[in-house]
Amino acid sequence: MKMNVDRFRVAQGSRVDLTKWPTLAAPVYESEDHYAQLLQEYVGTINAQQQLLNASESFAVLVIFQAMDAGGKDSAVAHVMTGINPQGCRVTSFKAPSDQELKHDFLWRAMRELPERGRIGIFNRSYYEDVLVVRVHPEKLRGEGLSKPRLDDNRVWHERYRSIVELERHLHANSTRIVKIFLHISKEEQRKRLLQRIDTPEKNWKIRPEDIEERRFWPDYMKAYGKCLTATSTRRAPWFVVPADDKRNGRLIVSRILLDAFLALDLKFPKTTPARRTELAAMRAQLAKPGSGKSRA
Ligand code: AMP
Ligand code: MG
Repeated sequence: MKMNVDRFRVAQGSRVDLTKWPTLAAPVYESEDHYAQLLQEYVGTINAQQQLLNASESFAVLVIFQAMDAGGKDSAVAHVMTGINPQGCRVTSFKAPSDQELKHDFLWRAMRELPERGRIGIFNRSYYEDVLVVRVHPEKLRGEGLSKPRLDDNRVWHERYRSIVELERHLHANSTRIVKIFLHISKEEQRKRLLQRIDTPEKNWKIRPEDIEERRFWPDYMKAYGKCLTATSTRRAPWFVVPADDKRNGRLIVSRILLDAFLALDLKFPKTTPARRTELAAMRAQLAKPGSGKSRA
C-alpha cells in the first residue's frame, strides 16, 4: 500500500500553527518486523534511485532536517541513509557558528556544503537556525557583527526569509531539488528522551545543561518554527511536518517523502548514442579474444 505523505506537506502560503499539527500519527507499520521490512524496502529503493542520480548527473538533492533537541534528527539520518552508497551522499551538521563563520553572511557556511549534481547532501540543522534559535534569542544577532541590528525589529527576519526563499529558488532553477523536513515532537516526548539521555550512560554525551534550560522557550520555538514554515514553504522547496513522537513511524514517513521526491525526478540511466554503441562494440570485440591485453614484450 502506498503511503500518502501529502498531508504532511505545508502548502505554499498556508499559515502554520504547530500546536495544530500532530506529533503522533496512526502508525504505518503493524509490528516491529513489518517496520523493519518497510524501512528496508524504502531504503533499498532510495539506494537504487541514488545510483540513477549519480549516473545521470542531472540533479543534486538537498535534504534539510530541523527539529527541537532530541527530535530524532541524528537517528533519522542514520536509519534512512544506511544502505545508501556513502560515495553519493554527504551529511553536514551545523553547530553554533565559529568566529570565522560569523564574519560572513548567514548563508555562507551552508553554500560551501551544497551537493553537486549527482549527489545527495543532507543538512542536519541548516541556515534555518538563523531564523529559529537566533529568533528565539535575538541577542545572538549582536554576535553576528551586523551593523546595528534592531533586535525589536521584525524586518531582519523577513529579510532572512526572503534570502532563503530566493536562494532555494535559485538552487531549484539550477537543478538542485530541496526537501525540508521538520521532525515534530511534543514537549513531553522531549522530556522523556532527555531523561533517557541522562539515564543511559552511552547517551550521556548528548545532553548539556542548556538543553534543559531551552525547554523554557518551547512556546517561543514553536512560534518561530510556525512563522518560518509559513514564510519558507514553497511549491518547489516544500516543508514537511513529520509527526515524530514515534521514532519508527517518523523514519518511515521521512523515507517515503525522500522516495517520492526521487520518483518525481523520473531519473533514467543516460541513453547510449549510436557512436557510443559502436565504441562499446569495438571494445567488446577486443576483450572477447582470449589472452587479449597481453603486455608488450
Ligand atoms: P546539536 O545539533 O544538538 O549538536 O546542537 C547544535 C547547536 O548549535 C544547537 O543548540 C543549535 O541551536 C546551535 N546552532 C546551530 N546553528 C546555529 C546558528 N546559526 N546560530 C546559533 N546557534 C546555532
Ligand atoms: Mg543537542
